Amino acid sequence: ADVAMYQSKAKGGRQPVVFTGTMRQAAQVRLRLETELARAIEQDQFEIHYQPVWRLDNEQLVGFEALVRWRHPSKGLQLPGQFIEVMEETRQILELDRLVLQKTCQQFADWQRKYPRMARTSVSVNLCSEWFSRQNSLDVINSILKETRLPPESLRLEITERSLLGQHEQASVVLKQIRRLGVRLAMDDFGTGYSSLNYLHRLPLDIVKIDRSFTCQVHTEQRARDVIQAIVHLANALNMKVNAEGIDDIRQIEILRNMGCHFGQGFQLGRPMAADNVPGFIAGKNTKS
Ligand code: C2E
Ligand code: MG
Ligand code: MG
Ligand code: MG
Repeated sequence: ADVAMYQSKAKGGRQPVVFTGTMRQAAQVRLRLETELARAIEQDQFEIHYQPVWRLDNEQLVGFEALVRWRHPSKGLQLPGQFIEVMEETRQILELDRLVLQKTCQQFADWQRKYPRMARTSVSVNLCSEWFSRQNSLDVINSILKETRLPPESLRLEITERSLLGQHEQASVVLKQIRRLGVRLAMDDFGTGYSSLNYLHRLPLDIVKIDRSFTCQVHTEQRARDVIQAIVHLANALNMKVNAEGIDDIRQIEILRNMGCHFGQGFQLGRPMAADNVPGFIAGKNTKS
């Protein structure tokens, strides 16, 4: 078979590593992707789509979540699932997140000046874990806010609980500084990590986002309802608001509202849309109904 021997330098040792034909192919595909992604950053091939977020009690629009997409020159629009993980591994994600943050704040500040209805809405940006262990994050965020003149109160930053594992102390220092700017903080994908309950009270968060894996079962599974109810109680006790993500069935809305979830988003309430469609969306309906 197509087998080659390589010396493994990465481990500092001299263990032989066997590369099969498929592994070689996978490595080539991967290398090409990394190169393409570097070019994508240089050539500005990333764009932001916006998913509406609603208050569940009165169905008012509260804002949008910014979700990055890659406009691949030949393959078309690529979702984060196709490139975020690689970019985390190569650490290109830091640069991507900075680009997304800059673009989103600029875009949103422009909209707020143009459309009075948007002045009362906010925008959420997802940041990878490293932002919260780095010294200069505060400066980067602050200078983007200054430069774009987006009011800090209009910005929310989303972090995943998975990403904070093992570095809560340091993260909470950075988070506190960011929050002092007036920026709100949300814990994304809550309930999917390991030590959520142990540290939630130690982090200066405003919003807890219930992971889609619970939301999508809320109308069919008692256990999902139990978990969500527990999260709502915990969040209330800690003075945090709850946002249920991934609402994709109309039956989920009322159940979540009755359980005390403050906010919701999902395909049933609005899919992520290209930036060009946001002003029309805003003009058309300020509320869902
Ligand atoms: P997330 O932050 O939890 O975002 C929610 C994801 O669920 C989005 O997928 C959204 O399109 C999808 N979604 C929303 N409603 C529904 C629904 O009703 N049903 C289903 N099946 N899915 C729904 P997307 O845009 O593919 O993003 C995936 C993940 O990629 C995000 O999860 C976030 O962790 C990450 N991501 C997106 N943009 C960025 C970014 O700019 N920076 C970083 N670091 N991560 C990002
Ligand atoms: Mg998110
Ligand atoms: Mg999420
Ligand atoms: Mg997610």
